[in-house]
Amino acid sequence: MFNSFKNLTEVILHFSTDKVCREFLEANRWNGTPTCPHCGCDKWYKLNDGKTYKCGNKECYKKYTVTVGTIYENTNIPLPKWFAAIYIITAHKKGISSIQLAKDLGVTQKSAWFMTHRIREMVGEKHPEALENTVEVDETYVGGKMKNKHKKVRAEAHANGVSHVDNKTGVMGYLERGAGVRLNVIDKTQSFKDMVKSNVALESIIITDSLNAYTGLAKDFKDHEVINHSEDEYVRGEWHTNTIEGFFSFLKRSIYGCYHNVSPKHLQRYCNENSYRYNTRELKDGQRFEITLSNLEGRLTYKNLISK
Ligand SMILES: [Zn+2]
Repeated sequence: MFNSFKNLTEVILHFSTDKVCREFLEANRWNGTPTCPHCGCDKWYKLNDGKTYKCGNKECYKKYTVTVGTIYENTNIPLPKWFAAIYIITAHKKGISSIQLAKDLGVTQKSAWFMTHRIREMVGEKHPEALENTVEVDETYVGGKMKNKHKKVRAEAHANGVSHVDNKTGVMGYLERGAGVRLNVIDKTQSFKDMVKSNVALESIIITDSLNAYTGLAKDFKDHEVINHSEDEYVRGEWHTNTIEGFFSFLKRSIYGCYHNVSPKHLQRYCNENSYRYNTRELKDGQRFEITLSNLEGRLTYKNLISK
């Protein structure tokens, strides 16, 4: 595709005009043949504005551009700013606040906020496949006071199920060793065991702490190794949940450091952003940017975002 961008300057120099960005999106999405997003027809007329197509199907005749159905649709934000935002958001290890992004790009904070959410939505897994092999499973709570307590105190409270209190939002994490991580905001209508079963293949080995909610997973999975944190046990040979816990503390630093207030409604998208960076950590920033740019699917309207 490209010779891999090495830094933000190269991205900005290359994608300097709306036209260049649009040509890139067209090549990427249509491979040379504009296709009507409404009916799938590949006969078209191009209008004089240089970007709008009119469908050649008499039954349809609708107008469209390459951004229909993508994160760029229906915004007045110029494409070069979108592309720069994608680079910045996916490359910054600890994320970036919309206030900072607004300053960096010269857009309003409202626009920057909207862009960050659409980009986070875009990097979420669209068709998640079951995780396999050895999977560390743990849950964490974002937004409460428990985070300031000592590890042992948290472990005891947690073993007793106390960590469910407060107005914290729970996040379930599954980390396949040597592969990647997935985070799901906890859906209170589902049991922890059901959540694990819908995300991890049954022939896997599960590692959790001793929370009661995980008891019984051994019946469903190849093996279930339990680490008893409340008894001060943290590692038993290769069995531990340190990788997922380490990821959680990174996630929390990123959320509290950049965003201060994350409403439960938006938390899944912050989780997407962080797990995406983790799962693409072997890639160079330029490669990650190009892969993200090629993922045109995924769309979130401003209405979805602001609705209660
Ligand atoms: Zn059409």
